[in-house]
Amino acid sequence: MYAQESKSDDTFTVVLDAGHGGKDSGNRGNQYYEKHIALNVTLKIGAILKKNSDINIIYTRKSDVFIPLNKRADIANTSKADLFVSIHCDAHNSNAYGAGTFVLGLHENDRNFRIAQKENSVIFLEEDYEKNYDGFDPNNPESVISLVLMQETYLDQSIQAANTIQQSFVRNLKRKNRTVKQAGFLVLRNTYMPSVLVELGFLTNKIEGAYLNSKKGQTEMSQAIAKAIVAYKNQLQFDLQEDVIFEDNSVKSAEESTTSGYVFRVQISASKTAVEPKSFNFKGLSPIKRVKTGSLYKYFLGNASSYEQAKNLQKRAIEKGYNGSFVVAFEGEEIVPLNKALKRN
Ligand SMILES: [Zn+2]
Repeated sequence: MYAQESKSDDTFTVVLDAGHGGKDSGNRGNQYYEKHIALNVTLKIGAILKKNSDINIIYTRKSDVFIPLNKRADIANTSKADLFVSIHCDAHNSNAYGAGTFVLGLHENDRNFRIAQKENSVIFLEEDYEKNYDGFDPNNPESVISLVLMQETYLDQSIQAANTIQQSFVRNLKRKNRTVKQAGFLVLRNTYMPSVLVELGFLTNKIEGAYLNSKKGQTEMSQAIAKAIVAYKNQLQFDLQEDVIFEDNSVKSAEESTTSGYVFRVQISASKTAVEPKSFNFKGLSPIKRVKTGSLYKYFLGNASSYEQAKNLQKRAIEKGYNGSFVVAFEGEEIVPLNKALKRN
């Protein structure tokens, strides 16, 4: 939807964000430089994607310079990008190896928190970081929860993009699958588009570190990521067509309105980890209902007997910052097409 609103043609804009740079080397596992590997891979991804005339590529950096995290999000937002991909390498004091792809969310475990903590701590190299990040403290796990609500509108699509990248690593390169995870990465907080962070692998692992530092490794990893970005773009364009059809129908029948036997609720967010459906977790909104569908928990506001009431609830949700919220019809515990609920009168 936003992709079509913001551009007249079908150009897909991707922001490629090479992690770290300049005075921030990133991790130095086995004496390698995360910042150099991230930049090499990022530039290679861009070079491959450039062959697609309908893909527009924006870089947050193209050389060895320091860029604050919030500046990276600004670049992405200004360019009205359709996807933000941040490239990093991991480090650990074990022999851990494998590629992982992350989306913004609650840390599912301590391990994910540590990865985000490491990447977030680069703000200590920035002047005014206290001011620029509203007192965010990378070392406090609690400090990250407020990050989660910002990206939730794009969570489904971020997970879809992350899955596509992760599958590409596993299928094309036989990399160990560390699966898609959620964690509180600050660089993903302020982007208004689907956003993922890729940890290419562990520089601290002897074999994987050497691979990622090699030309062969960097070429292969960038090919896998570029392939995935193209695949995601194609999926997205297909989804958008479906979306448009669905919305047209629902608008038409909205006039006819209400019902019996159906309840209307407003879907305000979704997450991969279960958040308690308490009003304090949802900016004071209540009642909140949580429904698990597939691997996602979805959160619904209200319990309205008419579509009009639900629209008012949606307005309230949007006022609270849930910009992506939309009305959903329930028949009992089942979600049913909105058209069906609106027509039956
Ligand atoms: Zn990093």
